Amino acid sequence: MTTIKKVAHVYQGAQSHMVGDGFKVQNLFPNGNRIGKQLSPFFLLDYAAPSYFPPSDHPRGVEEHPHRGFETVTIAYQGSLEHRDSGGNAGKIGPGDVQWMTAASGVVHEEKHEKEFTRQGGVLEMAQLWVNLPRAHKMDTPRYQALEKKDIPVVDLGEGSYLRVIAGSYNGQPGAARTFSPLNLFDVQLKAGKTFTLTLPDGYNTGIVALKGEARFNDTHTAKGVEIAVFETAGETITITALTDASLLVLNGEPINEPIFAYGPFVMNTKEEIIQAVEDYNNGKMGHLN
Ligand code: MN
Repeated sequence: MTTIKKVAHVYQGAQSHMVGDGFKVQNLFPNGNRIGKQLSPFFLLDYAAPSYFPPSDHPRGVEEHPHRGFETVTIAYQGSLEHRDSGGNAGKIGPGDVQWMTAASGVVHEEKHEKEFTRQGGVLEMAQLWVNLPRAHKMDTPRYQALEKKDIPVVDLGEGSYLRVIAGSYNGQPGAARTFSPLNLFDVQLKAGKTFTLTLPDGYNTGIVALKGEARFNDTHTAKGVEIAVFETAGETITITALTDASLLVLNGEPINEPIFAYGPFVMNTKEEIIQAVEDYNNGKMGHLN
């Protein structure tokens, strides 16, 4: 017999702030809300709601900066991004694409609006999720998974509604990304009136972010963009009804039960490892952009 995964807490997206000069984001956690380990392995989520950028000659975004100890997952909904890193990797992230970057032992990169998007101007909507790595993988070699829209499986929910399996699996449909710990990440786009039931592993941490629109969870809570509902770890099913057209992001994963010591762009287990990360970055051990 399956049991309902109940809504435990609801948190609103924080006031928006600029990341560099290109991303007007609302933080959902951990700074916007003290959610802490309730969502492990997920560590941070920023959402840039649709926002218009006028044409420009100067690509907006975030200049060269490092990361170590985790993965950044960038989801583009509208508009296009471009990145470059110290490993010589570069690429574009267009609407529907996802970039899954494993910073692990250390990456230095820049994140900008794509050149043509910059020239023409337009609406940008994106999210960036930080996924923590188990201690055993924090110092692995960095890697990229450039997941194009066409590579991300789409599960048709009927009546124009669908669920994209970015990672993990949904009803037996495997997702596109490889991960270091068991987790599910779904982009869910619902038409008003759609009802469906998600079945998720018992014991996993779960958050559902309402990015846009309104949806009812288990007929007990109405979620409105932008907010995150954190669910009880016990239970397996969540019934979702879209009250309007709605865009949701489902985060579900097995908790990593290890200490976290985080500082700026580094997420490690101890203070000593953070001091080492800062030293390694300052000594150029994470590389530089050419
Ligand atoms: Mn970054």
